[in-house]
Amino acid sequence: MTKHIFVTGGVVSSLGKGLTAASVAMLLQRRGYRVKLQKLDPYLNVDPGTMSPFQHGEVYVTDDGAETDLDLGHYERFTGVPCSQSSNFTTGRIYSSVISREREGGYLGKTVQVIPHITNEIKDAIYSLDGEETDIVITEIGGTVGDIESLPFLEAIRQVRQDIGHDNAMFMHITLVPYIRAAGELKTKPSQQSVGILRSIGIFPDILVCRCEHSLELEHREKLALFCNVPLNLVVEEKDVANTIYEVPLELAAQDLDVYVLERLKCHVNRLDVADWRAMVQRFIEPDNGAIEIAVVGKYIGLQDSYKSIYEALTHAGIANSVRVNVRMVESEEIEARGAAAALEGVAGVLVPGGFGDRGIEGKIAAIRYAREGNIPFFGICLGMQCAVIEFARNVCGLDGAHSMEFAPDAQHPVIDLMEEQKKITNMGGTMRLGAYPCVLSEGTRARDLYQEDKISERHRHRYEVNNAYREPLVENGLVLAGLSPDEGLVEMVELPSHPWFVACQFHPEFQSTPLKAHPVFAGFVAAALGDKQ
Ligand code: GLN
Repeated sequence: MTKHIFVTGGVVSSLGKGLTAASVAMLLQRRGYRVKLQKLDPYLNVDPGTMSPFQHGEVYVTDDGAETDLDLGHYERFTGVPCSQSSNFTTGRIYSSVISREREGGYLGKTVQVIPHITNEIKDAIYSLDGEETDIVITEIGGTVGDIESLPFLEAIRQVRQDIGHDNAMFMHITLVPYIRAAGELKTKPSQQSVGILRSIGIFPDILVCRCEHSLELEHREKLALFCNVPLNLVVEEKDVANTIYEVPLELAAQDLDVYVLERLKCHVNRLDVADWRAMVQRFIEPDNGAIEIAVVGKYIGLQDSYKSIYEALTHAGIANSVRVNVRMVESEEIEARGAAAALEGVAGVLVPGGFGDRGIEGKIAAIRYAREGNIPFFGICLGMQCAVIEFARNVCGLDGAHSMEFAPDAQHPVIDLMEEQKKITNMGGTMRLGAYPCVLSEGTRARDLYQEDKISERHRHRYEVNNAYREPLVENGLVLAGLSPDEGLVEMVELPSHPWFVACQFHPEFQSTPLKAHPVFAGFVAAALGDKQ
């Protein structure tokens, strides 16, 4: 029977519930259990695909084309277990299926209500990951306990514990223990209160994970144990880590959190082997090759979470090359104002990530020109590839006024155009070209060399594409179409053999990079940047 762990958050948001859930999953996995992860988000959007990264951080895309919360990126990076459509549900998605079923007559004669109809739908979502190949499901509830909108989710997980029994379901509550500088003290009251809210709705946390800047003393643990009704050893400390998020599982393991979880769920405690993980963390902390600086030029730079997977993939590539990768976050509008040379001076490589909308586009194009003309390693992703094609068309092929139809519908040379299948689409939600598609790499290209494979599978999220009518001038002027869709209809990767390292792709390789296995194109990019430095 599949067991369930529910992760809730108290006091404030941004406590790193996703990282904690991913870390616990990774530890249980390494004790021999098959674990799946899932996030339930209380907001009303059916998925985060229609939200700006400023609202929500990056939209993470799964193989099967779900546009999801960025915590799923942590889940995949920590466990290597692929997420799917069943790994992220929102209030919007739950309600929309209940309402469609009501319209179809699925509840004929009944009054449709939050309890039981919405809560049943939530429970179906939770149980959808159960099965022979799943020992444990970890479900993270987004938001903070006490929010009005998370109530149906909390009620549903309370019911799950009733349905499947004490030994098969447990609650882990992540809470903040703030340090009050003026008093020089850690305060446990907010945690007591948030556990109080949980208890008032029938949920009794089994484990308290306390996020704190300073270590908990015995006296704090005793207080929390007493007031929150949790055994002393189940008050676990999760201090801010010193170097990297990949230390979190090691810190939790040092306190035997995974052992307590397994004992609580009446599972056998097998040996834990994290030697490779520990070595990876060590390589991050003490790289052999010093540090390099890579510029990421985007328009959502102000928010750390907007390019989460890109930053993580660069870190992984740094670990693979034993070099610390420092990111210089450059607002593309800043390049428009100050010029590329001023903003990018001294960087070892330039990365232009994906994006939507025309703000800052000319800055991205200028950054690419600077990298191309200056022989600086360049890596373009999705919109970054589209901008590279625009730049090449304008400045190498002499196609003045080359642009994307996304930004200039009456462009003189629409080198980037809406994909044919997108032309009839009117709804905005979930209608892009999404998820994993195969791509064929041509022989003799850098792409083929990096992947060491001729057929790859990468995840996509786009509506626009290289306009096939312009393939000829692009190729004649030296751009190599290194990767194509199997029917050769879509350009998936381009590169410039005349440049030391200039590679761009229409897909998002950052979603498949993990700390133990850096993505080959990221690893190659960082190696090239490092080579330049040396
Ligand atoms: N806006 C572009 C498109 O829709 C690029 C998308 C992206 O970078 N994810 O094709």
